[in-house]
Amino acid sequence: MAKFNRETVLNVHRWTDNLFSFRTTRDTAFRFDSGMFVMIGLEVDNRPLLRAYSIASPAYAEHLEFLSIVVENGPLTSRLQHIKPGDEILVGHKPTGTLLLDNLDSGRNLYLLATGTGLAAFMGIVQEPDAYERFEKVVLIHGVRNIAELAYRDFFTSQIQNDEYIGELAQNQLVYVPTVTREPFERQGRIPDHLVSDAFYDSLGLPKLDPAQDRVMVCGSTAMLKDLAALLEGLGFEEGSNAKRGQFVVEKAFADQTPSRATAAAE
Ligand SMILES: Cc1cc2nc3c(=O)[nH]c(=O)nc-3n(C[C@H](O)[C@H](O)[C@H](O)COP(=O)(O)OP(=O)(O)OC[C@H]3O[C@@H](n4cnc5c(N)ncnc54)[C@H](O)[C@@H]3O)c2cc1C
Repeated sequence: MAKFNRETVLNVHRWTDNLFSFRTTRDTAFRFDSGMFVMIGLEVDNRPLLRAYSIASPAYAEHLEFLSIVVENGPLTSRLQHIKPGDEILVGHKPTGTLLLDNLDSGRNLYLLATGTGLAAFMGIVQEPDAYERFEKVVLIHGVRNIAELAYRDFFTSQIQNDEYIGELAQNQLVYVPTVTREPFERQGRIPDHLVSDAFYDSLGLPKLDPAQDRVMVCGSTAMLKDLAALLEGLGFEEGSNAKRGQFVVEKAFADQTPSRATAAAE
């Protein structure tokens, strides 16, 4: 049996020269939890060329959505950047991941901390009614270098508020916090610096992060995960996993080492 489905690209949105998102059809038998990632890719020379991608759409959506970087000379993304509606994408059969609401204890506020394409992992979670039932506020902090990299900004500032399914919950409970490091913007600076700043919480009208009450999900580079895990553990947060619920969970937004084609294709 094939290890992947063949889905059709429905539309493509280009955010910058190096960042795009796309929507595909979804096999009705393909099941996942919001926040999971899956191997996706293209057939190249009659072989699958696959990479891990967070699913940037909620578990209940009819379609699948992905947000992608373009890596110069990257085996997959140098090709994937050219996809257009009607093209075929391979989607693996085994979605997985740790950024699941089920892996967190219940609590007061849920913080979703993402840099770059790490945002993709939280696109499904912010559209999940369960997130708003279990937490008073869902605080999404997206850190990027340049303003243009704030993908889905319009979605957070207007579209989600008008969504017929999730709109009212998002209006009342979603707090979207974009932050930029390399050019002037309404909020500047790195996520770890914000999290230890009283002025940051004051500006949002939120209480300071508290391990006894708040829960955190983190998705970014290895360096970002290391910094934030150390910061959270320093504050007394305990890490959760698929085996045991906790107060925070982390996942890489990308691997530092290039996976071999054989490894990726074997998934
Ligand atoms: C759990 C997981 C989830 C992922 N989810 C996504 C996602 O939703 N969107 C996405 O674009 N990528 C995601 N990635 C990265 C993705 O698997 C590929 O690495 C990426 O698509 C580039 O593929 P490539 O073959 O062109 O280059 P690769 O050979 O895979 O990567 C080359 C190098 O580019 C850098 N790089 C790769 N991906 C990124 C990135 N997203 N941001 C910044 N630098 C990067 C790394 O230094 C990497 O070593 C994820 C990776 C993991 C492990």
